[in-house]
Amino acid sequence: MWNWFKSKKNVLIYLMITMIPTITISHGLAIQKVHENNDYYFTVAEEYAIFHGNHIDRFIGETVSRIDMLATLIDINPNDLSNVQEILTRTIDKDVRFSGFYWANPEGDLLIGTNELTSPINIADREYFQEAIRTGKYTISPAHIGRVTGRYIITIATPVIKDSQISGVLLSSLRIDKIEESVLKHTEEERVFLIDNSGQSIFNTDHLASAQKLYHYAVDIDRVPWTIEAQVEATEGNIYVQAFFTNLVILLILTHILFWLIQYALLKKQVKFEKKQTELQKIQLVENLAASTAHEIRNPLTGIKGLIQLLSEKYKDDKDQLYFNVIQQEVNRINAIVSELLLLGKPTAHKLSTYCVNDILREIEPIIHSEANFNSVDLSIKYSNDPLQIKCVKDHLKQVLLNLTKNALDAVNNGGQVSISIEKKKNDCVIHVKDNGDGMPEQILKRVFDPFFTTKETGTGLGLVVCKRIIESYGGNIKIDSKLNKGTKVEITVPLAENND
Ligand code: ADP
Ligand code: MG
Repeated sequence: MWNWFKSKKNVLIYLMITMIPTITISHGLAIQKVHENNDYYFTVAEEYAIFHGNHIDRFIGETVSRIDMLATLIDINPNDLSNVQEILTRTIDKDVRFSGFYWANPEGDLLIGTNELTSPINIADREYFQEAIRTGKYTISPAHIGRVTGRYIITIATPVIKDSQISGVLLSSLRIDKIEESVLKHTEEERVFLIDNSGQSIFNTDHLASAQKLYHYAVDIDRVPWTIEAQVEATEGNIYVQAFFTNLVILLILTHILFWLIQYALLKKQVKFEKKQTELQKIQLVENLAASTAHEIRNPLTGIKGLIQLLSEKYKDDKDQLYFNVIQQEVNRINAIVSELLLLGKPTAHKLSTYCVNDILREIEPIIHSEANFNSVDLSIKYSNDPLQIKCVKDHLKQVLLNLTKNALDAVNNGGQVSISIEKKKNDCVIHVKDNGDGMPEQILKRVFDPFFTTKETGTGLGLVVCKRIIESYGGNIKIDSKLNKGTKVEITVPLAENND
């Protein structure tokens, strides 16, 4: 087998069948796997981002409604500062989310607060404050370090309106660490970044150690102008390399199995071809030998025949005549075999000429008719309408027609029917020889082309062998259909000579 690889062409075939498809397909599948993997992690990141986004949104929503309630309380009398102070202090003790509540007048001065104000503080410069005054709706400040507590906070400014006038602004400092804490409570493997609209980080739960490959997804939060981003890390190593090599191994095994199967099939075909070739050579050798031997036997046989004839005229005794008769019959039989064997010799050695099949059949029609009459058989002959020219050896084709007619006449009883017809089918001349005689069972039909196979007492078993050999040497074929007790149909197809239209 290794000799096979010595040729460059075979190495190329090997590479084409195994290595190249394996590498290409492995690469393609690995890329697909990477895409699938990316899609998977993006979806995971997206789910986390949406989850935390909703969570923060709810958190802010709750906080705002809490503050709204507080504002409603203050609304009763915003100018009674001691009352406001009391409400605020009571609330801050109950809610750890807040680091402080302050009450500012519309000018931005912090009047009171839950944390002690050591110096006067004015927040009129803060954008969120200005917006709250302008719109009369609550606003949320960017994350910043509170001026009073020094904590990292966001401030929610809620204007309190009395008699359609802003009487003051309730400022609630929301502790960012509390938001973070509540987010952290719900995080698993992911990393969460909260970013405000100026791109400043509010917090991140950065606890991922060595990042393999990160997949992130960001969503905006409804109630606040913030964006939350979730990042997840691929747990597997290099997906491409893993997928590529796994596929490579599987495909290498598969393509190699395929490769050796193809090799095996080709080898088997080659062996079969060679076997057929030697078989053919053997047959040719035997046929040539048979034909040349037959030729040599013919001459002495003619001598023997003549001499027996003479002797039979000399010895008129009844017993002697019986012997001579038997000898004569046997010699005739040898003669029949020898004539058929002669036809088996190289058909290619004869020069083919173009003849009209109708003409050839017409020439032997008298012989066939007399044989049919002798057996009281109803014979019908149908010539083709147009002359059909084929390339053949005239005597050989006559022999074929005679052999087939002889078989048909042998098969029918008195009163049987035999028909011969010639017709054109596409570019072929088709000759049918049909009879309604004995027919053949399957097992005999299978063997009729075997040399010397005969079911007749005086048969040679060479008739059909010779027919097949002759017809095939013209590039045609012979087919036999037969049904036991129903009859036999022999079909000969021979290609028409080229100048025939
Ligand atoms: P032979 O005629 O000398 O027996 P063939 O080669 O012509 O040799 O025929 C071989 C065998 O095929 C015959 O012995 C016969 O059994 C069978 N056979 C051939 N033609 C017919 C036919 N028309 N009807 C029935 N049997 C046939
Ligand atoms: Mg015969």
